[in-house]
Amino acid sequence: MVLHFFQSITLILALCWLQSVNTRFWRGRSVPAQVTSGLLFGATAIVNMLDPIWLAPGVFIDARLAVLGMACVFGGPLAGCLAVSMAVAYRLELGGAGAVPGAAGMLITALLGFAYRHALSRHWVRGGAPQMLGFGFLIHLLALFLLLVLSGLAPVSVLILSMTLMLPVVTLMLALLLQDLQQRSQANSALEESEARMRAITHAIPDLLLVLDEDGRYLDIVSPVQHRHLLYDDAARLQGRRMHDVLPTAKADRLLAFVRQSLLSRTPEAIEYTLDIGATHRTFEGRAQALDINLDGRKAVVMVARDITAHKAAEAEIMQLAFFDPLTGLPNRRRLIDRLTQMQARSAQDGTFSALLCIDLDDFKKINDLRGSAAGDQMLQQVACRLESFTRETHSVARMGGDKFAVLLSGLSTVREQAHSAASLVAGQLLEALRAPYQLGPNVQFSSGSIGIVLFNETFSANELLQQADLAMYAAKDAGKNTWYFFVPAFQEAVNSRLRLEEEIRQGLLRGEFHVHYQPQFDERGHLAGAEALVRWQHPEHGLMIPGHFIGAAEQAGLLQQLDHWVLVEACHQLAAWSGHPVMGSVPVSVNISAVQLHQGDFSTQVMGVLAETGAPANLLMLELTESVLVRDMALAIAHMEALRVHGVRFALDDFGTGYSSLSYLQQLPLDELKIDQSFVRSLPADTGSLVIIRAITALAESFGFDVIAEGVETDAQHTLLASNGCRYFQGYLFAQPMPAQALTTLATTLPRNERHAAASGIRRR
Ligand code: C2E
Ligand code: MG
Ligand code: MG
Repeated sequence: MVLHFFQSITLILALCWLQSVNTRFWRGRSVPAQVTSGLLFGATAIVNMLDPIWLAPGVFIDARLAVLGMACVFGGPLAGCLAVSMAVAYRLELGGAGAVPGAAGMLITALLGFAYRHALSRHWVRGGAPQMLGFGFLIHLLALFLLLVLSGLAPVSVLILSMTLMLPVVTLMLALLLQDLQQRSQANSALEESEARMRAITHAIPDLLLVLDEDGRYLDIVSPVQHRHLLYDDAARLQGRRMHDVLPTAKADRLLAFVRQSLLSRTPEAIEYTLDIGATHRTFEGRAQALDINLDGRKAVVMVARDITAHKAAEAEIMQLAFFDPLTGLPNRRRLIDRLTQMQARSAQDGTFSALLCIDLDDFKKINDLRGSAAGDQMLQQVACRLESFTRETHSVARMGGDKFAVLLSGLSTVREQAHSAASLVAGQLLEALRAPYQLGPNVQFSSGSIGIVLFNETFSANELLQQADLAMYAAKDAGKNTWYFFVPAFQEAVNSRLRLEEEIRQGLLRGEFHVHYQPQFDERGHLAGAEALVRWQHPEHGLMIPGHFIGAAEQAGLLQQLDHWVLVEACHQLAAWSGHPVMGSVPVSVNISAVQLHQGDFSTQVMGVLAETGAPANLLMLELTESVLVRDMALAIAHMEALRVHGVRFALDDFGTGYSSLSYLQQLPLDELKIDQSFVRSLPADTGSLVIIRAITALAESFGFDVIAEGVETDAQHTLLASNGCRYFQGYLFAQPMPAQALTTLATTLPRNERHAAASGIRRR
């Protein structure tokens, strides 16, 4: 019996080996694998039956149930059915009293085997050794029962021992061997799948994959062939060699340090390095992760090296575009601000003064207009070259935009005065360089520059410094150009107060702080002949302000148009309000018009709109223009004037004699009146030159058919002299100051009756 036990085990081992060969042979092909497997199990069961333990004639026992049971559990349905069919057929063929119980036992074993397989796949039962032993015990117990019942055999000890002890153990051994075989096969498949996935991944990533040991030895080059041109040497030659045998020492040192750092770190480490591969200089970004296991007994890392050469080139190009001026190649404003910020930090640390010089070319716009923008570009390039010759390690030059450049002088001195003179020296040299002639194509051009300088060693922001240098540069321009100015806080204060004023004007307009005063105008007989509307600002702090204090700021803030429009509306309302008044009802009102207003395309429509809205009589509205207003776009001015004149609006030329007085203007413009500027009046009677001009103006006005009015008449002497020289109308403090509308109404009604009557019956010139 013991011999039979070992025979069965030998057979089982042989079966397992064959089954293992079979599985490998038919890898991935389930049907042939199951068929062959069924044949193997069936054959083994039959071989088992060839040398059984005989219990009685026709009755024997063997290990077939163990083999068939396992065929059904591990071989699958096809293999199980085939094996059982073969074994059953053979047993029936052998015949004898045990044939039927034997065949029935095999069929029951097959059913139980399939049931157990199903239960295993659903995880209803476990596939451990006790369970397998239990399964073996169960099938053999059932077979024993059948044998005893169907063949009427006496329950001998050999039968009971074999069926309940030996054969269940044989079943367990077979089960364990087959299970191990199955697990190994599954592990192999998983490994193969994982390898296939890894292969696909390494092919898909455009990087080099290297496995390096702790001495920088190339253990493996996992990268696919198409990326191997990025390797420093042929992959086969690299394999097994150390980085120090292949790469330049400095590079190898750095990379080895990186590998060792990666081995110490738990997270992936990164490095950027360059290598000369063939004739090309390439930049790589390396990332390394330590392996969890040792390779050949040494620690190792996997390193992914990505070629970022193109990326770096693009980055450099972006940097060039972002930080350099394309025309001159000089650093641009942004770059200068970076540099300035660095210098500030250094200056603040070591206490040395640095200087920012803001350079603007004088009259560059004119040169550009005159010679064309190509020549302008050429000139800017030459300026850049000249300035660049001042670039040192501590000095830098930048183009801020347009014709504006900047020079930074760092670390001048810890003593302010010395830094001041060092910066002045450079400024002088820069101006001299800028004054040298420029060759623009066939032409030689002379030019100059104005420089604003700010010294710094404290923490002003870069933008503040640029602003201060700018202010100093504008001061240099104001001082006649071709010179330099250092920034002083007064420049900033002037700007601040102008900005404050602008804001106050804005607020003042919203809060209704502006008013219109009217200054009366008289004819030679002292009759009221008109009134000029003059804007006033009732400032909450400074009291009543005259236009000289805020018109300029309003213009710079872009508010003049709004202010002028408001004055026009206000004056028209007043005209309409006076319309029923016995005196004021026929007094024309003059309103000053600024350039921004007149150059609006719809100016005449706007005025007509205001007249219609307010109900003011158009023939009592006189608009005052200055010559400077006309210079900009004479044709447009004339068009507006003509359009308004049709409706009765009249025009005066204010401050006449101070501007670009030209006879052609007077001929073309549809004017009604010339206002002699107060500068001529003021110098009377002493200045005979002014008197000559006044005479010429009155004669000219006479010939063109214009009225003449003198402004700023303050003395009787002036009045008499003007009257005797052909001037018929007068405006000035001699008669009255500008006053509120109500005051003027009162004044008008207090005039002597005959004069008032004269005024009411058509005082107006023309
Ligand atoms: P303007 O149009 O030549 O106005 C005459 C200026 O001379 C007024 O100054 C007036 O007060 C002043 N004036 C009159 N008589 C005398 C005098 O006898 N002696 C002296 N020294 N000055 C006299 P104001 O009101 O300060 O206006 C100054 C300038 O502001 C005006 O010169 C005009 O160009 C401008 N302006 C006034 N109101 C407006 C306005 O609503 N819009 C615009 N765009 N400009 C205005
Ligand atoms: Mg005026
Ligand atoms: Mg004037």
